[in-house]
Amino acid sequence: KPSAAFPHLRSPTSEHARELFLLMNSRPGSLLTTLLDCTKESGDANAESLEKYNVDWTGHYRGFSSIVVRPNSTDEVSRILKYCNEHLVGIVPQGGNTGLVGGSIPISSKEIVLSLEKMNTIEDDGRESNVLRAQAGCILQDLQDHANKNGSLVPVDLGAKGTCQIGGNVSTNAGGVYYYRYGSLHANVLGLEVVTPTGDVLNLGYSPVSHLKDNTGYDLKHMFIGSEGTLGVVTKVALRCQPSPVSRGAIWLSCNSLQDVVKVLNIARTERLSEILAAFEFMDGDVLELVRQTHPSIRFPLLNAGDTDAPMQPYSILVETHGSHDQHDREKLESFLECIFEEGLVTDGVVAQNLGQIEDFWKIRELCNPSSAASGYVYKYDVSLKARDFEGFIRDMKLRLGDVSHASSSADHHLLCVNWGHIIDGNLHCNIVSGGKFEKDTGLEKFINECVFQEVMKRNGSISAEHGLGQYKHNYMPQIKDPPTLQAMYDVRSLFDPNGIMNPGKYLPST
Ligand code: FAD
Repeated sequence: KPSAAFPHLRSPTSEHARELFLLMNSRPGSLLTTLLDCTKESGDANAESLEKYNVDWTGHYRGFSSIVVRPNSTDEVSRILKYCNEHLVGIVPQGGNTGLVGGSIPISSKEIVLSLEKMNTIEDDGRESNVLRAQAGCILQDLQDHANKNGSLVPVDLGAKGTCQIGGNVSTNAGGVYYYRYGSLHANVLGLEVVTPTGDVLNLGYSPVSHLKDNTGYDLKHMFIGSEGTLGVVTKVALRCQPSPVSRGAIWLSCNSLQDVVKVLNIARTERLSEILAAFEFMDGDVLELVRQTHPSIRFPLLNAGDTDAPMQPYSILVETHGSHDQHDREKLESFLECIFEEGLVTDGVVAQNLGQIEDFWKIRELCNPSSAASGYVYKYDVSLKARDFEGFIRDMKLRLGDVSHASSSADHHLLCVNWGHIIDGNLHCNIVSGGKFEKDTGLEKFINECVFQEVMKRNGSISAEHGLGQYKHNYMPQIKDPPTLQAMYDVRSLFDPNGIMNPGKYLPST
C-alpha cells in the first residue's frame, strides 16, 4: 500500500468516512468501508466488499482504497468533492470499471473511490428530441435499449456496453465500432453537467433544450471529454442520437493477407458501400482461435459447424451497413461482394440473413477481448496507425518478440501476438498473450512497451488510440508531447484542480 505516494494528500480516516456519510444524507449503502472502523458511526450496512472497486476488468490493476462513496445526486457529489478538496483527500471517479489502462483504480491508500453507479436515471429518453439526457452512471447498453425503443441509435457502441457507463465513456472519449460513421463523443455530446473539485456545479450545455450550435464562449465541455476524471466528475450527459437505420446489413469475409484487408476496406469506403458503411472491423486468425478455444460452442460463419480442427482463416472482416432502403442497400452489398471476389481479395464471404445473424457476427468480434484475457496475462496495446502500416507493425512486433528471452525473468514464455481492431479508423488492438501465465512479468512488460513505442513512433502513430492514458501510458507524455503543449496540459489541470486531488498519479506524469 504505497501510502508514501502523494505527500500532498492525507490518508482518509474513520472520521473522514463518518463525515462523508453525513454529507450523503446518511443514506444506507451510500458509503462502503471495510478497513476503517467507522461503520457503526455511519450506520452503513457494510455488507459489500470493496474488492470490486479496487480491481479493474483486466485484473491488472489493484488499489487499496478503504472508502467507497456512492452518491445519489449531483448535490451529494458536490459536497463530497468540496469536503475532499478541503481535507486533501484524493478522489478516483469510477464508472463501470472497464477501462483498460487502470484509470479507475486508486494507486495509493490516500484516495477514495467515488462510484457513479447509483446515479443511473435517464432524465429524457430522447423520444421527442433525439437527445438523450441521463445521469453519468447509466449503463451504455440501457441507454442503447431505450433509444432503440424510440427509433433512435446511440452513436457509441463497444464490447463493454453491458457494464461501462456513459460518464466513463465521456471521460475516456470512448471510440468503439461506429466511430467512423457517427463520429467521436466530441461530436455527439451536446451538453454536460460536471462538478469541479471545489464543489462547483458547471452546466456545460446540459439543459432540456440542447443546441447543436452554441457559440457562447469557451466550449468547456470538451475539456471534460477524455480527461479521465482529472478535472472533475461528470454527473450528467446530453447525447445526440441518430435515427435508427431503417435497413441494417452485415457481411463476414475472409482474406489471406492484411494487404488484401486494406484493399477491401478502400473499396468499401470509396467505391461500393460509401454512404451506407457503418463499421469495418478486422480480426486475425490467432485471436479467433483463442475465441474458439475459450468458447467452443461459438459457431464461426465460414467454418462448418462442429469442425473444430479446421484452421482459422488468416484474417476475417466484419462489415456492417446502415441505410434507409433495404433493396438499395442489398444491391450495394452484392456489388461490393462481386467486386472484391472478382479482384481475388477475399477467399470466402457470407451475408447475414437477418438481425439475429448480424448479432451473432458481432458476438464473435466482442469475444476477442475476453477470450484473450482468459488465455493468459495480456500485455495490451491500442495504437493508431495508417491502415496500410498495420502489416509492417505486426510483422516487426512478432520479429522483436522473438528476442523475448533476453528481457524476461522466466525462460519459458509462450507469447502469442494477436490482433484485431477498428481498422477503418486506423485503430489496431495489438495484444501479446502470455499463454497459460496469468502473472505479469515486469521485465517483459518493459521490453514489450519499448518495442511498441518504437514501432509506433517509427510510423508516426499514436500509442493510445481510444483507451486513454490512465496509469499505464501516462509516463510517455513527455516523449510524445512538446514541452509547451505538455505545460499547457498541466496548467489546465491545476486550474480546475489546484490541490491535486483528482485521480492523482494518472493521465499526466507526476512532476
Ligand atoms: P471506468 O473504467 O470506470 O473509468 C475510466 C476512466 O474514466 C477513469 O479514469 C475514471 O476515473 C474516469 N471516469 C469514469 N466515470 C467518470 C465520471 N463520471 N466522471 C469523471 N471521470 C470518470 N474502449 C473504447 O474506446 N472502444 C472500444 O471499442 C472498447 N472496447 C472494450 C471492450 C471490452 C471488452 C472492454 C473491457 C473495454 C473496452 N473499452 C473500449 C474500454 C472501456 O470500456 C472504455 O474506456 C469505457 O469508456 C470505460 O467506461 P467505464 O464506465 O467502465 O469507465
